[in-house]
Amino acid sequence: MRLVLLGAPGAGKGTQAKKLIEKNNMPQISTGDLLRAAVGEGTDLGKEAKSFMDKGELVPDSVVLGMVEERLQKDDARNGFILDGFPRNTAQAEALDAMLDKLGMPLDAALSVDVPLEDLMKRLTGRRTCKGCGQMYNIYFSAPATENECEKCGGELYQRDDDQEATIQKRLEVYQEQTAPLIDYYGGKGILKSVSGTGNIEEIFNNVVSTLGL
Ligand code: AMP
Repeated sequence: MRLVLLGAPGAGKGTQAKKLIEKNNMPQISTGDLLRAAVGEGTDLGKEAKSFMDKGELVPDSVVLGMVEERLQKDDARNGFILDGFPRNTAQAEALDAMLDKLGMPLDAALSVDVPLEDLMKRLTGRRTCKGCGQMYNIYFSAPATENECEKCGGELYQRDDDQEATIQKRLEVYQEQTAPLIDYYGGKGILKSVSGTGNIEEIFNNVVSTLGL
C-alpha cells in the first residue's frame, strides 16, 4: 500500500506509522526524521533546514522534494510506503503526484488522523522521545514507569527542540494555513480516508487498519 498520513503536529501520525510498519512490511518515510538526521549529522542540508525547523516554519520545498525523491527510489519502497509529514503543502502534493506518476506507483490512500486543535498543545509539550530506539512517550498521557528512561531499551528520553511552546504555536498555525488544505486536495482525488486520533493508541490503530482495509 502506498499511503500518505495527514494530520496536525501531535496528531499521532508517527505513532500510527510505526505500528503500521510492524504489521506490514513497508518503510515509513518521515521527512521530519530525515531532516532531524541531517541536522544531527551537521550536513549543509541539515544546517539550512535547522534554521526553519527551530522557528516552526516549513523547510523550503526544494530541499524536501529532493530528499523524498531519492528515498522513494530505494528498493524497499517498491512494495509500498507510508509518507509521514509529507506532503505539507499543495505544491509538495502536486510534486509528489508527478514523482509517483513517473515511477508508476500512484498513491492508494491519504489517511487523515483527526485530533481537535485544543488537545494538540498538551500532546506536543508533553512529548518525549527515546534517544536509543525512538520510542515515544508523553509525560501527561503515557509516561514511562521510571522518569526520563525508556521502558523498551533503558535509553534516555529527550524533548525535541521544536516541541517548545512558542514553536509549537507557529507549527500549528503553519499546519492550518498550508497543510490542512491537503484534506480537500486528496478528497477531490477520491482517495481520502479519515480516523479519529483521540483516545487509546490501540483503538486508534484498530480503526486505522479497518479503515484502510488491511
Ligand atoms: P515533523 O517531525 O513532521 O513535525 O517535522 C518537524 C519540522 O521539520 C517541521 O516543523 C518543518 O520545519 C520540517 N519539515 C518536516 N517535514 C517537512 C515537509 N514535508 N516540508 C517542509 N518542512 C518539513
